[in-house]
Amino acid sequence: MRKILGLVLCIILSVSFTAQTAGADEAGRNKIVAIDAGHQAKGNSSLEPVGPGSKTKKAKVSSGTSGVSTRVPEYKLTLAVAKKLKKELVNRGYKVVMIRTKNDVNISNKERALKANKKADICIRLHADGVNNSSVYGASALCPSKNNRYVSRLSDKSKKLSEYVLSEMCKESGARNRGISLRDDLTGTNWSTIPVTLIEMGFMTNASEDKKLQSSSYQKKLAYGMAEGVDRYFGFDD
Ligand SMILES: [Zn+2]
Repeated sequence: MRKILGLVLCIILSVSFTAQTAGADEAGRNKIVAIDAGHQAKGNSSLEPVGPGSKTKKAKVSSGTSGVSTRVPEYKLTLAVAKKLKKELVNRGYKVVMIRTKNDVNISNKERALKANKKADICIRLHADGVNNSSVYGASALCPSKNNRYVSRLSDKSKKLSEYVLSEMCKESGARNRGISLRDDLTGTNWSTIPVTLIEMGFMTNASEDKKLQSSSYQKKLAYGMAEGVDRYFGFDD
């Protein structure tokens, strides 16, 4: 009788355990992703330290670049893609923290990082590039190096996150992959306590990339690809 009871108990336990794992898998991606749409309608040139305890200071939020052909400012592009990325991630079962949902805000890069740190497991900072050479195009990702004074311990994970998000985004959208840049001068990264990547989605100073970046279908591909990269980062892609 005891044996049978034990067996029944075993079956019940294993069934409920399987159900639980299946549940967790379905609800799935029980992770929280912060999305920071870079910049805002008006830059803020007052200064803040570039990292915890730093005497070096930088503008709270720079004004960003704008489309050489479309004239659309970077802050509008980053928010448009951020909203599509949120939708894609929520569809996959992630929770999302949006650092901003409007253009008319005043949130410094340090404050953005602190907001992400509070709730999220990882942070994706969305930006677009601009340079004084209209022939340059393509996407890249910026992450802290191992020698970063503030977040060296986040370097490996941030690099992995950067590589996955960038490569999947480029695969999906056809954007040219310019690779990873190690950057230790970014306030919004240096204040992070969670793995972080800054994605430069393309060059707004290149006319054809600028136009592509403004197309809703291209933005959806960028968002889908980035979500694929997030899945890969957390191992949800098997
Ligand atoms: Zn930017």
